[in-house]
Amino acid sequence: MEDESKILTARSDGRACGELRKISFETGIAPNATGSVLVSFGNTKVICAATAEKRVPPWMNALEPPKGWMSAEYSMLPYSTLQRKQRASSAGKVDGRSVEIQRLIGRSLRAVADLEKTPGWTLWIDCDVLQADGGTRTASISGAYVAAKIAVKKLMASGELAADPFVDSVAAVSVGMFGGRHVLDLPYEEDKDADVDANVVMTGSGRFVEIQASGEEATFDDSQLAELLGLARGGIAEISRLQSEAIESAK
Ligand code: UDP
Repeated sequence: MEDESKILTARSDGRACGELRKISFETGIAPNATGSVLVSFGNTKVICAATAEKRVPPWMNALEPPKGWMSAEYSMLPYSTLQRKQRASSAGKVDGRSVEIQRLIGRSLRAVADLEKTPGWTLWIDCDVLQADGGTRTASISGAYVAAKIAVKKLMASGELAADPFVDSVAAVSVGMFGGRHVLDLPYEEDKDADVDANVVMTGSGRFVEIQASGEEATFDDSQLAELLGLARGGIAEISRLQSEAIESAK
């Protein structure tokens, strides 16, 4: 049986099981975008930039009532990983993981947006990983919302947009089972050996948007899943608070 003192001791980076990494949102880092932020979840750092364009995909032109669109793209910069990752432009294709992640980011934003409020507009959200240390998709979703919301704020201030499409905020965090413990916000060191790995996307008002939970050569039961979701809920409440502060103080 595992020594109880070991179970209670902090994790390899000194955190308690339910503690987030140091999270920060540095806004305005890409001035040519309509809204931008460098989001850090510990050593995971992602540049999220929202750019508004006055056009929508052709299939949307026929919609009644007219709607806007929001779409995300995700990539890891070649030097963001421990071993250099080849650019998609050199490889000649985007890898499946990136496609999966960018769809997740887009769905997460659209889940909290009423796109009838942005007719004729597309908001592009670019998420580029500067440094990867686990949880790049959860940092991307959390940063994408901040960048998008700042862009909306700017368009409303300039009179280009009449109303805010966002009906709620959205954030994400990872949780998992590692070394017999339920842990929040896993760095790569834990992520690579976790028995259960989950990414939880949730609104600021506490409703689920998406849960990706998988056993990695392991299984989990209802009570373990409930425990993990509880941990995620606590983490997301804190991330939502930090998002609001960043949006509020953004110029
Ligand atoms: N990773 C990497 N190269 C890759 C993909 C992933 O180094 O091509 C590392 C990176 O640190 C990433 C972690 O593995 O954060 C976990 O990857 P996963 O696919 O679970 O996505 P993430 O946790 O970043 O959302």
